[in-house]
Amino acid sequence: MKFKSKTLGILGGGQLGRMSALAAANLGITTHIYCPEEGCPASLVTPYFTCADYDDETALQKFADSVDVITYEFENIPVETIRFLQKTKPVYPDEKLLEASQDRCLEKAFLNNIGILTAPWAPIEKVADIDMTFGKWGLNDAIIKTARFGYDGKGQEKISTNDDSNEVWKNLNTDKAILEGLIDFDYEISVIIARDLKGNVAIYPPSKNTHKNHILDRSIVPSNIPEAIETEAYDMTTKLADAVNLVGVLALELFITKDGKVLANEIAPRTHNSGHWTIDACSASQFDNHVRTVCGLPVANPHQHSAAEMINLIGDDVNHLDKYLVMDGANIHLYGKTEVKSARKMGHVTIIEKI
Ligand code: AMP
Repeated sequence: MKFKSKTLGILGGGQLGRMSALAAANLGITTHIYCPEEGCPASLVTPYFTCADYDDETALQKFADSVDVITYEFENIPVETIRFLQKTKPVYPDEKLLEASQDRCLEKAFLNNIGILTAPWAPIEKVADIDMTFGKWGLNDAIIKTARFGYDGKGQEKISTNDDSNEVWKNLNTDKAILEGLIDFDYEISVIIARDLKGNVAIYPPSKNTHKNHILDRSIVPSNIPEAIETEAYDMTTKLADAVNLVGVLALELFITKDGKVLANEIAPRTHNSGHWTIDACSASQFDNHVRTVCGLPVANPHQHSAAEMINLIGDDVNHLDKYLVMDGANIHLYGKTEVKSARKMGHVTIIEKI
């Protein structure tokens, strides 16, 4: 008798793909990674790897033919790639969610349409729109972000009514941006949800997140936030997952204002850096549930057995692991990147303590 295992195709070869491939291996699921970069983190832990561009239809077809189901590990995969692959094999999460999360204006409009509050925002297509929007809002401080392809603080800048908007617009070097009112938040949290083909969900406890230079530095769970805020954050995330008929995992980043308002900042249509703690502190990690749900398996209840603090290893941090190597409860995860760059996520450490 044979064990029939599925093959999961993953578009993108970064650390999220790598950790999904590792989780898949534990479930007896074979992975095939598709990524345009040779030697990417996920390529080092998968039996099958295709190195090709996202518009290479011959390579995409061969990839689709070789797998049972397809997912993606980052949101900047062209929607056309997903549409092409969908003709041969199912792709989860579906393109509606991907499309919304690729453009900050579409994303905010989508969230607002389903009743999820965000910072005030306006699309910006020319410099005059900036001054006009400031005038309309009566606010002095905002953040301007490129509508597409921004991440880890790239393509965004604070702007106030005293700044030279011509200069800011020129620096942004884009033809479509979003202006968001600057939220004087008390703290930031994120909620990760997994939803399977039958609509069953698993929701992870919110992590409290702090950033350094716009890049996630630490996530702490339990976050010890007021119960009412936690409930509201869960409701918002569940509402979003239902609205997009999610199959897979998504994360919702949230600002909590000083007067207790919960505002959505950003959707990640995938596993999220603030959920890495789930590998070491839960019975089923975000990666386990990502693999399960896109492969048609039931979502697992992610029982949290330990308190966790996840610390990102950015740039040269990876060369200073000594203290973690001897620390009780420290779990080190490196991503197999050999070139250290200053803002590059090289790995993370999760320090756990039984609860
Ligand atoms: P983002 O790329 O939109 O996730 O933004 C990265 C980080 O910048 C967030 O986690 C916040 O710390 C900060 N940020 C982004 N948008 C705003 C905003 N409208 N008000 C205040 N801080 C913001």
